[in-house]
Amino acid sequence: MISVEEALVRVLALADPLPGERVALRQAAGRVLAEPVSARLNQPPFDASAMDGYAIRDADHLPGKGLAVTGEAGAGHAFSGRVDPGAAVRIFTGAPVPEGGERVVLQEDVTRDGARITLGHRLENSRHIRALGQDFKVGDLLSAPRRLRPADLALIAAMNWPEVTVSRRPVVAILSTGDELVMPGEDPRPDQIIASNGFALAAIAEAAGAEARLLPIARDDEASLRLGFELAEGADVIVTIGGASVGDHDIVGRVAGDLGLQLGFWKIAMRPGKPLMAGRLGRAAMLGLPGNPVSAIVCAHLFLVPLLAHMQGLPGRHDLRRARLGTAVEANGPRTHYMRARLTAGDGLPAIAPMASQDSALLTILSQADALLVRPLGDGPRADGEIVDYLPF
Ligand code: AMP
Ligand code: MG
Repeated sequence: MISVEEALVRVLALADPLPGERVALRQAAGRVLAEPVSARLNQPPFDASAMDGYAIRDADHLPGKGLAVTGEAGAGHAFSGRVDPGAAVRIFTGAPVPEGGERVVLQEDVTRDGARITLGHRLENSRHIRALGQDFKVGDLLSAPRRLRPADLALIAAMNWPEVTVSRRPVVAILSTGDELVMPGEDPRPDQIIASNGFALAAIAEAAGAEARLLPIARDDEASLRLGFELAEGADVIVTIGGASVGDHDIVGRVAGDLGLQLGFWKIAMRPGKPLMAGRLGRAAMLGLPGNPVSAIVCAHLFLVPLLAHMQGLPGRHDLRRARLGTAVEANGPRTHYMRARLTAGDGLPAIAPMASQDSALLTILSQADALLVRPLGDGPRADGEIVDYLPF
């Protein structure tokens, strides 16, 4: 048996990061930035007023001082004149501060009478001017790699780029196998069940930035599996579900081997789970997941998600977070146990408690879980309140 960490290292070795591609900024949300972005201009591009008010000189900033209003500056409407001594220019938020203007007094701090204003008796210290380049300057960088969040898109747009270079999305082909499987909405015979796993795996892959292709179900025979692998042609990752243990009908490994799979078949010291099949098949990485829904979904989180991150140029590691146990847990055995668990808001760290049932066949429990509580192999009993690791789920 190998550890989860060792298995992850081997999975990541199955694929290299994919090349970058230019996409319009509108298509870039959630994609991984592949090259740093360099600002093409200063932001703000000029000294800008942060408030609605009057631009004046510092020397005129005296309680009760009277000033002549000699012009107006608005956003997108610069005033070409100057702010002279004894004068004020009406100014609005976002407008360039005219030459000579040293501060902006708030409109609420003056009284206006025709073309004159009188400053109030309580004046603010702040100048209310955003200096040229205060946000970023020409050549400032947004670093890569990073998964682009909405604020990153706004920043890249403000840096004056309509396009950006992101890692190509990995294409993931998902192949469910089994004579007993039918698609949801069909009319299963009494000895059949619904092929549910593919829907979770496609969603997991898409949330991890991939393009998922859910292939037609393959039967437990050679011809059907070969057809399935043919349909997976062109994918960067092929994920098979089921048929990967040592049962009579578990022929996925054999057929993939005939097609040239450099097969790795590892027993991993984890629960839930079964052996994980992995290798390279043609130009694709292949992961053979167990058919048991909970095992398949947990294995996808542990191995497929980091693989997809790695292929997009991000570190392929587990997003371990910390929580405080909301209940005592017993000692763990010789396998890392990923317990289905629930999080609740805590004082500081969230509180985590494993679900009462850890039966790995129960999708209802999995659907109520929002975390996998990580019990390291050989870990002793843990008391209520101790700090533990979890994976968000
Ligand atoms: P296997 O790994 O093929 O031996 O399958 C283990 C268990 O998972 C069996 O009970 C299968 O019926 C079930 N199973 C296999 N594939 C799927 C799937 N795509 N969706 C739901 N259950 C599945
Ligand atoms: Mg099967």
